Amino acid sequence: MDKKSVAIIGGGCSGTILAWLLSPAYNVTLFEKEPQLGGHVFTYKAHTDNKNVPVDVGVDHINEKLCPNIFMILDKLHIDTFVAPLSMSVLINQTGHLASWSNASNLGDLREKFVVEFDKFHKDMTYIAAHFDPKYLKITVIDFLKSNNYSMDFAHLALVPLLTSYYGCEAHSLEYSILYVAVSFDMNLLSFFTPGYWRKISGGMGSYIQKVSEKICGDILLNSSVTEVTKNSKEKLEIFLDDGKRFEFDEVVFATSAKDASNCLNFSDIDYKGLLGNFGYVPIEAILHTNEYKYKVNGEYFAFYQGKNDTHGTLTRINRNLYPYEKLKTPLNVTFNSTETIDEDKILCKKQWSLQTLRPIDGLFRSKIRDIQGKHGIWFCGTDTSVTGHEGAVVSAFVMADKLGVPYEFRENKAAFAQFNTVKFIMGI
Ligand SMILES: Cc1cc2nc3c(=O)[nH]c(=O)nc-3n(C[C@H](O)[C@H](O)[C@H](O)COP(=O)(O)OP(=O)(O)OC[C@H]3O[C@@H](n4cnc5c(N)ncnc54)[C@H](O)[C@@H]3O)c2cc1C
Repeated sequence: MDKKSVAIIGGGCSGTILAWLLSPAYNVTLFEKEPQLGGHVFTYKAHTDNKNVPVDVGVDHINEKLCPNIFMILDKLHIDTFVAPLSMSVLINQTGHLASWSNASNLGDLREKFVVEFDKFHKDMTYIAAHFDPKYLKITVIDFLKSNNYSMDFAHLALVPLLTSYYGCEAHSLEYSILYVAVSFDMNLLSFFTPGYWRKISGGMGSYIQKVSEKICGDILLNSSVTEVTKNSKEKLEIFLDDGKRFEFDEVVFATSAKDASNCLNFSDIDYKGLLGNFGYVPIEAILHTNEYKYKVNGEYFAFYQGKNDTHGTLTRINRNLYPYEKLKTPLNVTFNSTETIDEDKILCKKQWSLQTLRPIDGLFRSKIRDIQGKHGIWFCGTDTSVTGHEGAVVSAFVMADKLGVPYEFRENKAAFAQFNTVKFIMGI
C-alpha cells in the first residue's frame, strides 16, 4: 500500500525530530523558511586558534534531569555533553555606582542586601514545587512577591536579572506564572546561591540537529516559506510557498510558533487566527562577538547581566569561562539585546528570534490548541503546544509521531515516559 504523505512545516528541533520519526511510515516533506534547520538552535563555527570552534548562539543549556528524552536521543546518536554551570554575576548601575551580586561568590553589596530574601524565596519555591498545585499557574510572579512581602528591589534587582538568563532580556518575567519559576529553583536550574546545574552539547546544539536531519528519509526543503495551507476539491491539503510553488498532502503538521501557523490558515469553520494568533512573544537579538568583556566584578562567571533600568538589561554569555573554551585566545561572547554598541569588526554573527511568553493567559491559549488538533488533517506541535523549553518542544514531536502511528520508543525510561505523558496530556492528543 502507498504510504500517506505528510508535510511538516518548520524545521526547528520539533519539526526535524518529527520528520525523522515519521519518515519510515510516511512520505515526509519538511519545509523550513530559513537556509538551515534548527530554528532557535543555531551553532556558529568560529575560526580561532587554528581550528573551528562551535559556539551556540541560541539554545544552549540542557540537563539530563530536565531533558531525559533529549538525552535518550543523544545516546542513540553517540553525542557527548559537558557540564556548563549557569554561574551568574549581576551588575546594576545605581545613580553613579555599580551595585552587584552573584550566585557563585558571597561578595557584592546587593548580595548583602538581599540574602534574607534569597533564602526565603528558595524556601517558598520548594514549597510551591512540592505541592505542584495548578493554581500556581494562574498566579504571576509579581502577585506572589507582593502577597508574600518581598521588596520591589528584590523583584527588580535580583529576580528579574536571574530570570533574564531564561526568558530573555525584554521579557516582562514578573508577569509570568510563578509555577515555572518554582520548578526551576526546585531543580537547581536557577539559584541565588549556586550556579545552576546545566550541560551543553559537545560540538554545539546544531550538531545534534544535523545528525537527526541525516536520518530523515524524505525531502527537506530549505528556504521554503509556507504562506498558506488550504483544502482542495479532492479533500487533499494544499501547501503554497512564497515563491508560488504548490504541493499536495494527506496530513500537515505545523511545528512553528502558533502565530506563524495562524498566518497560514484561513478556514471558514475554524477561527485559527483567534485560537493561535494571541500568544505573546518577546524579541531576542543575539550577537556573537570577540569583544573582551570589560566589566570584571568578583571573579569570572558564565553569564553576566547588566541592568539598563528596573525591568530590562542585557545578558552576555562568556563562553571562555566554560572549561572546553578556557584555553582559547579569542573570547567568544554572546550578548543578548545589547544596550551597548559592539564594534562591527568584532561581530561574528547576529540572529533574531522571538520567544514565547509564559503568562497565565498563555497557558490558557495553549490548552485551546487541543480543540483544533487534527481538524481538516492539520496538526500542531512545537514549543507553543507543550511545556516550556527544549525538552518540551522535542517531546511534542514524540507525542505527535505516536498519534500519527509511530509508537513512542523510550517507555522503559521512567523520567522520559513521564515527560511524554505530561506533554501528551497538555496537547490533548
Ligand atoms: C535565544 C534562545 C535561547 C534558548 N535557549 C534555550 C535553552 O538553553 N534551553 C532550553 O530548554 N530552551 C531554550 N530556548 C527555548 C526554545 O524555544 C526551545 O528550546 C526550542 O528550541 C523550540 O523549538 P521549536 O521547534 O518548537 O521551535 P523553533 O525553534 O522556533 O522552530 C520553528 C521553525 O519554524 C520555521 N518556520 C516558521 N514559520 C514558517 C513557515 N511559514 N514556513 C516554513 N518554516 C517556518 C522557523 O524558521 C523555525 O525554524 C531558547 C530560545 C531562544 C529564542
